[in-house]
Amino acid sequence: MSRRNGAAAGPPDGERRMERGEPLLSVEGLEKHFPVTRGLFKRQVGVVRAVDGVTFDVRKGETLGLVGESGCGKTTTGRLITRLLEPTGGRIVFDGRDITHLSQRAMRPLRRDIQMIFQDPYSSLNPRHTVGAIVGAPLRIQKVATEKGIKATVQELLERVGLNPEHYNRYPHEFSGGQRQRIGIARTLALRPKLIIADEPVSALDVSIQAQVINLLEDLQREFDLTYVVIAHDLSVVRHISDRVAVMYLGKIVEMADRKSLYESPRHPYTKALLSAVPIPDPRHRERRERIRLQGDVPSPLNPPPACRFHTRCWKAQEVCRTAEPPLAELAPGHRVACHFPEEPPAPARAGGREGQENAPGTTSPVS
Ligand code: ADP
Ligand code: MG
Repeated sequence: MSRRNGAAAGPPDGERRMERGEPLLSVEGLEKHFPVTRGLFKRQVGVVRAVDGVTFDVRKGETLGLVGESGCGKTTTGRLITRLLEPTGGRIVFDGRDITHLSQRAMRPLRRDIQMIFQDPYSSLNPRHTVGAIVGAPLRIQKVATEKGIKATVQELLERVGLNPEHYNRYPHEFSGGQRQRIGIARTLALRPKLIIADEPVSALDVSIQAQVINLLEDLQREFDLTYVVIAHDLSVVRHISDRVAVMYLGKIVEMADRKSLYESPRHPYTKALLSAVPIPDPRHRERRERIRLQGDVPSPLNPPPACRFHTRCWKAQEVCRTAEPPLAELAPGHRVACHFPEEPPAPARAGGREGQENAPGTTSPVS
């Protein structure tokens, strides 16, 4: 496929290019408070603190996993970054440019660079349009190629995502769930984006298909030099694809680290609890891990608990957790944790990196 079909109208490549390792995306204190209104006059009676001060960088070429239970603000974060929603606070810098409050018009050229993959491949594809029309739509909207060029590009994309290019004239209902997600991915790639926000890209798919789609995303990342934010409610989904992982709870990041540190020595009790629910593939390690069952439901972001938001469900909580909010502190290089009583890292003698070691008996004392 010709890069950007030769019709790019943006600044020349030299200006755009960034060294690997530099942030492509920086999010600082990002906030989205939805007003809650009541009555005929829409009197504001409260706010939903869906995203409440989130800060992270995504380096060029890397994959950041964004994980947390349903309702913690992952989708809202994705929609803020893609500017489908207007932030109520904070800053978004993409490719060196502050895009926090760009108008829709000013955003239009950037829409090619930042794309989103949605969870539900059934509802995100128009059932009345052919695959060719769906995948080619971004090219038509941005007017970057002729009709003939579009067909060739779409067929190339279909092939690249593992679909038959001959299926150009078929309709979404003729495909399986996994194939539909591939159609969605092909559409996302059409404009050669730099950043892709994949919001629960495999959650609606059979487990047997999930790994195939994740592998496809990984292959495409290398081939197209993509940077990903992959959103999931389950730590097992982002394990293989993520370079770093951020764990969210009620609109805030509670822990962020490189993949190995996060999975092998989680420091926040919430991360530890989430991880304890992830199946361990190796049966030899299975009995060594205690399943931590979190009590109660996630509190409402309409009225989040004060200080540490996790304290109502945390087995380690003490008075300070109810009165002072723990900052997201860097406890080890690149490992940030917002907790007054973080878990200890594994002792150096045992920190050989073997999986399952962090779950040795005696390292947790969950109350269940
Ligand atoms: P997640 O993707 O992690 O499941 P969301 O970002 O979808 O979470 O939602 C975070 C919180 O914000 C939820 O409590 C949700 O109900 C609320 N929320 C999302 N969109 C809106 C909206 N448009 N108006 C009011 N509340 C919203
Ligand atoms: Mg969501």
